[in-house]
Amino acid sequence: MGGLFRQRPPYEKVFCNLNQKVELRKLRRYDAGQLLTLNREKLDTQGRECKVCGRMDRLVDLAGQNEPPDLRCPWCKRFLEMSKQLVERDVYVVYRALEEKEKTNLPAIDEKTVKLPLPAANGRVYLCLEPEETACAHLEGERAVVRIYSKKFLPKLPGSIRLDMGDYVYRKHAAQKDLPTMEELAACSRGIQRIAVCRMDVDNLGAAFHSGFQQEGETDPVKRQRFANLPRAAALSRQMTLFFRRYINGFLSQAYDEKYTSMAVAIVYAGGDDVFLVGAWNQVLEAAWRIREAFRCFTCGALTISCGFTLFDSHFPIRLAASQTAELEEKAKGRRGAKEHEEKDAIALFTPEENHVYQWDAFREQVQNGKLKALQTFFLEYPERGNAFLHHMMELLRPVEDGGNRPIELARYAFLLSKLQPSWHSSQYPTYREFIEQAYGWALSGEDRRQLISASYLYLYENRKGKTDGVTQ
Ligand SMILES: [Zn+2]
Ligand SMILES: [Zn+2]
Repeated sequence: MGGLFRQRPPYEKVFCNLNQKVELRKLRRYDAGQLLTLNREKLDTQGRECKVCGRMDRLVDLAGQNEPPDLRCPWCKRFLEMSKQLVERDVYVVYRALEEKEKTNLPAIDEKTVKLPLPAANGRVYLCLEPEETACAHLEGERAVVRIYSKKFLPKLPGSIRLDMGDYVYRKHAAQKDLPTMEELAACSRGIQRIAVCRMDVDNLGAAFHSGFQQEGETDPVKRQRFANLPRAAALSRQMTLFFRRYINGFLSQAYDEKYTSMAVAIVYAGGDDVFLVGAWNQVLEAAWRIREAFRCFTCGALTISCGFTLFDSHFPIRLAASQTAELEEKAKGRRGAKEHEEKDAIALFTPEENHVYQWDAFREQVQNGKLKALQTFFLEYPERGNAFLHHMMELLRPVEDGGNRPIELARYAFLLSKLQPSWHSSQYPTYREFIEQAYGWALSGEDRRQLISASYLYLYENRKGKTDGVTQ
């Protein structure tokens, strides 16, 4: 036994092997029959593409009469129908197909039902999404029900197994049935009417699983591994699931705290250790902060979470938005100047080409509550000048940011600030004095200057009316 412990810690090895197997599976996701069916679909004769994924097979137009076409491929149409039911239905029934005609290889999804084939040891089993009443009816009917899962406790189905889902979706009124569209979410924004995509991921979770329970200070290998066992790993996994599938719904709505409001966001995915949100841009940013704060409390600061955040027009394909935001998430995890094992706990905003990456606390305190607040307070006095001034200011500061101190730009920046000067006797003078002293100081220090540029972006987005982009023009 002793020899085993002196080698590589056993669980670390088990987790590594398992990880390799899972990765391999991801590369071979479909069996031969499924691949044949997938490849049999015909191309669109007019060369048109699915609005979501860009495929060209058997497109379906979902738009009403006299509306511009809204083309989807059969798969994206299935996802659309299934998402709606995943949010609306509370019960998942697993049953065994009794008759040959009930069997399918591929998911059968339309507006009324979702029927997914599941892997099973013997025979074929299927998963169906049902409302509570029909699920009860199945129990008394013909169908061979194997198991029932439910999102919440259902008194009529006390034997069902709880299966949580991070499925919070904003609804303007409690009675609203349809899920909000991207346009509706964008319309809830402050300032510019944009949606934002945010992707979050727990930092170093793999390491927490395979070596998080080791006693760091112990030299005796047996004592060192004393707490590294499967029940603890299972408990950690269960807690992560609870946070990202159950509690997250409460943080985004009013469930846990009266001072919270329901956020104009929708969870696209939350589970494992990942979150994918879309919604009104300023509310997505606030939601990301709520999740980070809740996660910090939930783990007593032992684990951190990083985030990529960026804005899009509500018509921008969500698939592309997802991959661009993933790039930002990567950037947050590898902050410039951060050492390899340094804590991540960061957010990367707007675009990977520029450096808007911050530790969460610095972003909150120095960018949002510091520079952005100062800009908001100051431009309350000069509401009509704020946007033009900030555009000009960023034109001067960006080159300084790229290439160290540039005296000419800094001199022009000082001149720009002086143009806002009110008369000595005016009541605005003290506010002005305070602001320009700060603003000039910020331009001289690299970190403050960077934060000022990020805060200016936020200010411009908040004060831009309608859909036009106030930043890249
Ligand atoms: Zn598609
Ligand atoms: Zn992850």
